[in-house]
Amino acid sequence: MAKTTGQCHCGAIQYEVDGDLTGVINCHCGDCRRWHGHHAAYAVVALSDFKISKGEDQLKWYDSSAKARRGFCTECGSSIFKDNKDGENIVLSVGALNTPTGLSYLKDICTESKGDYYA
Ligand SMILES: [Zn+2]
Ligand SMILES: [Zn+2]
Repeated sequence: MAKTTGQCHCGAIQYEVDGDLTGVINCHCGDCRRWHGHHAAYAVVALSDFKISKGEDQLKWYDSSAKARRGFCTECGSSIFKDNKDGENIVLSVGALNTPTGLSYLKDICTESKGDYYA
């Protein structure tokens, strides 16, 4: 299987995954909606399978809650991944993946906090 790769909008930060990703998880929680501008789509991978291949010095972490921090590019502002501080996994924003991703839809979570403007 080809390696999964991804990058921020400007390309300063690039990463690769050498392992399996989960299916796509849409999160509707208030933190994700505010941070991404709307609900976020993620795939989860083991931290041990994940590597930043370029631009680690452009990466900044924002502590969005006691349980999560979000990595973004200081050049273009793309939110490219989220770390739930569990030391095991990293949560990738699937929009930053290079295609084809080979992924399929898995589930929606935190739908109880979805916006009041969509069904
Ligand atoms: Zn960037
Ligand atoms: Zn969320």
